[in-house]
Amino acid sequence: MNINGYCPHCKANLDGKLILDTFLDDGVPMDRALEYASHYSGWEQHGKLNRYSRAIGIYDFDKDRTIAYQCPDCEEEF
Ligand SMILES: [Zn+2]
Repeated sequence: MNINGYCPHCKANLDGKLILDTFLDDGVPMDRALEYASHYSGWEQHGKLNRYSRAIGIYDFDKDRTIAYQCPDCEEEF
């Protein structure tokens, strides 16, 4: 299952690590890890399978928002 899509340029899979695993790997007990992970966007749709995106957000401080994303593999923006 793909959650974060693919790079429109090189088709790289943009799914990163399981959010839940980042807490479990740090030694956080499962019940607390589930609570922490539930605060991330995407939890309602994907639950325990929710993943970080590998895309790098390009933030514009003047506009105060993310204006584009960059692929970590080919470094193209989209
Ligand atoms: Zn790419």
